[in-house]
Amino acid sequence: MPELPEVEVCRLGISPHIIGHKVSNVVVRNAKLRWPIPKEVQSLVGQEVLTVDRRAKYLLIRFSTGTLLLHLGMSGTIRVIEQDTAIAKHDHFDLGFTHGKVLRLNDPRRFGAVLWLAQHKDEQGLLTKLGPEPLCDDFCYGYLFNKAKNKKLPIKTFLMNNHIVVGVGNIYANEALFQAGILPTVKAGTISEQRYNRLTDIIKQVLSAAIEQGGTTLKDFTQVDGRPGYFAQSLFVYGRAGKKCLTCQNTLLEIRQSNRSSVYCPNCQN
Ligand SMILES: [Zn+2]
Repeated sequence: MPELPEVEVCRLGISPHIIGHKVSNVVVRNAKLRWPIPKEVQSLVGQEVLTVDRRAKYLLIRFSTGTLLLHLGMSGTIRVIEQDTAIAKHDHFDLGFTHGKVLRLNDPRRFGAVLWLAQHKDEQGLLTKLGPEPLCDDFCYGYLFNKAKNKKLPIKTFLMNNHIVVGVGNIYANEALFQAGILPTVKAGTISEQRYNRLTDIIKQVLSAAIEQGGTTLKDFTQVDGRPGYFAQSLFVYGRAGKKCLTCQNTLLEIRQSNRSSVYCPNCQN
């Protein structure tokens, strides 16, 4: 599943190829994504892309009349390729441009989304209730500690809640808690401010490092082959249950929390 770093790398990968360019045609091959693709997307013909932003895992392509919102769901990929590129299975949506390129969404599992926010209004409230971006200054010392007061839920579940902070998905919650030395099962309300501040730094570091690593895949967004935006990462715990801790050589353990896998080192985390 694409997490925040993959979506940010996607934004960086597609932006230079579509910003300042005019839409020539819009093709919806299968409107049945997570929500139906609205007919209003046809109003984009003749309009110019002003900028491409990201909020949480939503890509926001801005036009003067509104915002085209894209979400990659579980399996989506976006690339900007030549308009005569053969259509592949699961190529559900095209945004063609007058300079001969096309932004093409492929999504085998169809949990992704293409929505139109007229006048930039977020009528479905997808963006309004989100917590701060982890790489922005709003996500600062004291923030997690204050939000966690009296909270009895496990720290990992707390971190993965988009209303608290966006974009800390399962991989990065596992990795950040390992690097901060915090057991994923500890009650959120019992962690000291000092430990939360260290965790805040580490969350920023692991996400930034992943975005930086993904930078090597930027060229994939304009190529027909490959899987743009999915990059190999060096991980300490995620996907390594039963293997040796890279720090202390103890065996890493795995539990399920909120139906997601948590992998941790019983020696390094407490
Ligand atoms: Zn260890």
